[in-house]
Amino acid sequence: MIKISWVCIVVFLILGCKQTAEKSTKSAKLEIDLAEVTEKKVPLFENSIVSTDIDFIKSTDPDAFLNLSYIGQEAKEMPGGKDDELFDENTYVFKAAFKNDKKIEIWAHSDFGRKAAARDYADKLSDKLGKLPDFMRNALNHVVIHKGDATAFAEDAGKFFVLYSDNMDTRISNNDLEETVFHESIHVALDLKYAKSKEWQEAQAKDGVFITRYAESKPKKEDLAETAIFVYTMEKYPGRLSSEIEQWIKINIPNRYEFLKKLF
Ligand SMILES: [Zn+2]
Repeated sequence: MIKISWVCIVVFLILGCKQTAEKSTKSAKLEIDLAEVTEKKVPLFENSIVSTDIDFIKSTDPDAFLNLSYIGQEAKEMPGGKDDELFDENTYVFKAAFKNDKKIEIWAHSDFGRKAAARDYADKLSDKLGKLPDFMRNALNHVVIHKGDATAFAEDAGKFFVLYSDNMDTRISNNDLEETVFHESIHVALDLKYAKSKEWQEAQAKDGVFITRYAESKPKKEDLAETAIFVYTMEKYPGRLSSEIEQWIKINIPNRYEFLKKLF
């Protein structure tokens, strides 16, 4: 995408470039960022998922998901719900099974009203969980899904993350749900161990720049998850990111690149 954008920028100067309004804005933004970072150390993107056009993890990538079964309605702790009500008496509970005998429960709030409506969202999530690296999927206990619209968040100590149905649909339509699941799973799998570790903080200090402004704004909370998706993609699917982005990472954040490379 970035390569195309660069070509478009050149072509635009001569002929004008046909892109959608949204993509033109993003390309223009990236052009400015890439130009800026050659001069001074500033983040490459606003954030890793929503503000980029990059499809880090594709819907066609292989996944370890096998099947989804329904367990029944149970009382569950469902943080992040409306009115901060923690407990839900009749949560729809599903079990997603994956290769290597891993199972993850998906808890859909009783606000969905019908098992079928809850199942729709458990279905939308299951294959995305299947695309995670084994060690990240193995770190997850369960996933909470609320009906409604808000931004996903993770509970690293509880080993789960929380999604909202409308936001899932938006992210699916933008090819971003795989990346959202990856981001939240990094929080669960790695934050407690590394996000505030001496090794990671030294790598941050040596690099001296963050890949996104979001990472920069929360260096002990978001930098690991924000950076990890870029490094994972470089290691797992070389060439999927543009050569400009791969170069930026190797030149500007080599210490965190080396740190994360070992994990993927
Ligand atoms: Zn995060």
